[in-house]
Amino acid sequence: PMRILLLGANGQLGRELRQSLAPLGELVALDRHGNQGLCGDLGDAAGIANTLRELRPDLIVNAAAHTAVDRAESEPELAHAINAVAPGIMAEEAARLGSWLVHYSTDYVFDGTGNTPWRESDSPAPLNVYGRSKLAGERAIEASGCRHLILRTSWVYGRHGHNFIKTVLRLATERDTLRIIDDQIGTPTSADLIAEVSAQAIAKARDNPDLGGLYHLVAGGDTSWYHYARRIVDEARARGMALTVEAIEPVATRDYPTPAARPLNSRLDTGKLRRAFDLHTPPWQQGVAQLIQELTGQTP
Ligand code: NDP
Repeated sequence: PMRILLLGANGQLGRELRQSLAPLGELVALDRHGNQGLCGDLGDAAGIANTLRELRPDLIVNAAAHTAVDRAESEPELAHAINAVAPGIMAEEAARLGSWLVHYSTDYVFDGTGNTPWRESDSPAPLNVYGRSKLAGERAIEASGCRHLILRTSWVYGRHGHNFIKTVLRLATERDTLRIIDDQIGTPTSADLIAEVSAQAIAKARDNPDLGGLYHLVAGGDTSWYHYARRIVDEARARGMALTVEAIEPVATRDYPTPAARPLNSRLDTGKLRRAFDLHTPPWQQGVAQLIQELTGQTP
C-alpha cells in the first residue's frame, strides 16, 4: 500500500483529509505537535526534513499553513517560513524520494482586478503578505522538480475550526444588524469537497504522472460575502434556528480597512481540473446548506 504523510492534520481541511486519504493507503497524520518523535511543525524545516527521511512516504499531503491573513502582515517571517520555506523543503525531499507532494494554495495569489475567473495560466500578483508567502511556496514546489499537485482554492469552511459560516451564525444570534462586504466576489468551498476531490485527483495522478501540476479547485458559481451571509441566515432560519438579526447591510471594502488588502475578484476558473480529472464541483450553495444542516441538526 501507498505510505501517506498528512501534515496540518488538525486544520479545517486536514480533518477532512484524514477521512478521504485513509482508503488510499497507510496514513500517518501529524499536527504541529508531531507524534512518536516525528516532527509536524512547519516552523522547524530541519525537523520536517527528518520526518520525511524517516517515513519515506510515497505521498506527502500538506494541509498546514499560516492562514491568519491579517496577522501575517505583522509576522511576515513566520508566514514565509510556514507557507514558503517548509513546502520547499517538502518538495526537495519529495524529489529525492520520488514521492508525490500535494499542496494547497489560494485565490489571494491574484490581485483581484477584472471580473472574469482566473485561470492557472494568469499571472499572479498578490496584494498581501499571506498571498506572497503562498505564491513563494508554489514556486518552490515547482522549482524542485518533484511530482506534485498544487490545488488553489478559496473561502474555505468546514465543520472543524473557525470560518465565515460559524462567525455569521454567532453574530446573527447576538446582533440585530450585520454589515458585510459586498464587493469581494469568490466561491465558498467546503473542506469536505476539497478533501474528496484531492483523493480522486491523487488516485488518477498516481497512474498518470502527466496529470501533475497546478489546478484551481473551488465549488461551482460565485457570490459576494454579503450574499453568502444572507444565504447562511436564510438556511439557518429555514431550519428553525433562533436568530436576533433583522437586517444585513452591504458595505464596500474601502469602508472596511483591514491590515491586509484583499482581492475584489477572487473567481477561479476550474476548467483545467474538470478536463484533466473529469471532475465536476457542485454549486457552492449545496455545501453551505449541508454544513448548516449539520450545525442545526435540522432539515428545512
Ligand atoms: P486552517 O487554518 O483551518 O488550518 C491550517 C492548519 O495549519 C492549522 O491546523 C494549524 O495548526 C496548522 N499550522 C499552522 N502553523 C503550523 C506550523 N508551524 N506547523 C504545523 N502546522 C501548522 O486552514 P484551512 O484548513 O482552511 O486551509 C487549508 C489550506 O487551504 C491552506 O493551504 C490554506 O492556505 C488554503 N486556503 C485556505 C483558505 C481559507 O479560507 N481558509 C482560502 C484559500 C486557501 P493549529 O490548529 O495548531 O493552529
